[in-house]
Amino acid sequence: MDDCIFCKIVAGEIPSEKVLESENFIVVKDAFPKLNGHSLVISKKHYDSFLDMPSELYEELLKTSKEATLKIVKEVGAEGFNLVVNNGRVAGQIVPHVHWHILPRKKDDGFEFGV
Ligand code: AMP
Ligand code: ZN
Repeated sequence: MDDCIFCKIVAGEIPSEKVLESENFIVVKDAFPKLNGHSLVISKKHYDSFLDMPSELYEELLKTSKEATLKIVKEVGAEGFNLVVNNGRVAGQIVPHVHWHILPRKKDDGFEFGV
């Protein structure tokens, strides 16, 4: 996708702070972090949302997310974390290229997350 900022990050055309990489995913720090260590698990191939991503990638997605979360939680000294995927504008998805947020949490961090 020519106009997609996450495709450009994957291609190295936009700078990013890489946390780690697997065969089909890249994990980078969010450029506008809502919390210390806020990172994004981005599929290397463009899929608009979670529902467009093939299920064959689920295991690698979870393994990559776990590995990145362990690294980030240790790095920032978090006590817990949220894994979040926004799907569709109405659900807060701004970038239409599937990605998971890793949100490291600390007691009294002031972050409001309602489910
Ligand atoms: P969402 O609202 O779920 O689509 O999340 C998109 C996320 O991408 C937001 O948290 C943004 O701060 C983040 N973001 C936007 N541009 C960049 C960029 N160039 N590099 C890294 N993260 C970005
Ligand atoms: Zn894309």
